[in-house]
Amino acid sequence: MMKVVESAGCPDVAQVFVLQMRDEPWTRIECVGALDPALGREDKMVFVVSSQLGCPVGCAMCDAGTWFAGNLTAGEIEAQIRHLLASWGGSDAARCRKLKVQFARMGEPSLNPAVLDVIARLPSILPTPHVIPCVATTAPRAAAAWFEDLLVLRRAFGPDSFQVQFSVQSTDEAARDRMMPVAKWTLEEISGYAKRWVRGGDRKVTLNAALAEGVAFDPEVLGRIFDPGTCVVKLTPLNPTDRAGGNALRSAMETGNEPRIVELVERLESLGFRCIVSIGDPRETQMGTSCGQMARLGRRSLPMA
Ligand code: SF4
Repeated sequence: MMKVVESAGCPDVAQVFVLQMRDEPWTRIECVGALDPALGREDKMVFVVSSQLGCPVGCAMCDAGTWFAGNLTAGEIEAQIRHLLASWGGSDAARCRKLKVQFARMGEPSLNPAVLDVIARLPSILPTPHVIPCVATTAPRAAAAWFEDLLVLRRAFGPDSFQVQFSVQSTDEAARDRMMPVAKWTLEEISGYAKRWVRGGDRKVTLNAALAEGVAFDPEVLGRIFDPGTCVVKLTPLNPTDRAGGNALRSAMETGNEPRIVELVERLESLGFRCIVSIGDPRETQMGTSCGQMARLGRRSLPMA
């Protein structure tokens, strides 16, 4: 039983849906249909789906990590994809040149074995050959076997048709532990996996960093540990969640900080890294569709919140 509790946004930017997956009201999760601000619907669409009820990782900047009630089933993850297809993607999804399905919204996908089943079935769920699965992960140590299985599974997709993104957040391991309080791979271990992941023609592994004021992010450290031939760096603002505010975390990508970000990008590029600065559309935050925002709103209305 799945029902739509709420939705927000607009079709030409992003639409977030709060879905109740089971009878109990605390089984509410969110999924999103989003566009790349620079591209049209025919060029790229992104379906972002949740993999868990809440999240056990508890990142310092994420409202989804304040509660955890278990994994979603493969059927429940698939239901989100079908819902996005029917309610947001429409016939454009079949014509779109890149349909990315991102396992990122709520939950740590590598802690749910059902995510692998859903990825394997994506070509039969979606009406297009241009599907790109994308896993965004903190790389929990407990998921080592899951990551081995992922290496095998991605062979079923084209060389440039599978993406893995690791949340790096900082180049200081102690700061990473504060931001992502779970036993997880070190930067060196992520680098080792990236070298195994990328073979000729493969999409490089993405190293994600939501830059926060006062949190170390040193390009020289990245350059020592990671091979620019296997990794790209993606810098994003920190979303304005309740939890980020409560932990006194403020985005380092605020207006006025542009010269620092430009300098950071130049240093990364001088070390050989391709660097993506992903600001997103400011309307997303205003509409409440930035990651974690709807989860926060949804939980507030629940007795267990
Ligand atoms: S950012 Fe992702 S891994 Fe971290 S608590 Fe939120 S949902 Fe979990």
